[in-house]
Amino acid sequence: MKCNGGMQDDSNHKVTSEEDRKYAKEIRTLIRLFGDSINEEELKQKMVHYNGNIELVIKDLVQQSVEKQKQEQRNAVNESNDNSNKSVQKEMEKTEVGETKPGINLQGYCINETCLASKAKLPVWINIGFDTIIFISDKTSFSCPDCKKATVTSIIKAMFYNSEHSICATGDSIPVKDNNYQCSYTIKPELSYELKANKIRQHAKSIEDLRDRSEQAMNSTEIKNL
Ligand SMILES: [Zn+2]
Repeated sequence: MKCNGGMQDDSNHKVTSEEDRKYAKEIRTLIRLFGDSINEEELKQKMVHYNGNIELVIKDLVQQSVEKQKQEQRNAVNESNDNSNKSVQKEMEKTEVGETKPGINLQGYCINETCLASKAKLPVWINIGFDTIIFISDKTSFSCPDCKKATVTSIIKAMFYNSEHSICATGDSIPVKDNNYQCSYTIKPELSYELKANKIRQHAKSIEDLRDRSEQAMNSTEIKNL
């Protein structure tokens, strides 16, 4: 009775350090079950947040991945809307010829004298897709979307659509890197350019994997014995 307060302080402190140890064990187990897809510091925070309820932590982790994937899907192009491959004559009514597609797109001028785009002095879009290319801006021979001949000899613009990409010109020591939905760059004459475009990494597979593993984890004896 006489040292009640002191004992309470002691026991409170004891509980905290026991919780710490308990979380450490659960965190170790979760990392073993889930692999490197989970960050230890993040796990520690979640364990504290959910008062050590491992089931809620696992659900939170799966939900987090699902949200991340939803965000990427919102950013992704709806390619099913991208089937407007109409005749060139109709496209001619616009101020540019061709269309942009996911990956690298280059805008340039065709020099084929019989080409309608060339006659109208309209810039044309060339779709490269997901690739790495090197070219000198005014010494190209890309295929024209209008006349289909390799007569697009100069490039004035590069546009990356829905891709992780980088662009680097001669003299630039550091390439410009980005992963935005749509990015345009002016291509200057007489320079050599290197362009790279990769598909934006999808998390779908890892989420499925995470769900499988969380189910296994929930039923595992390791978790049950915690
Ligand atoms: Zn042409």
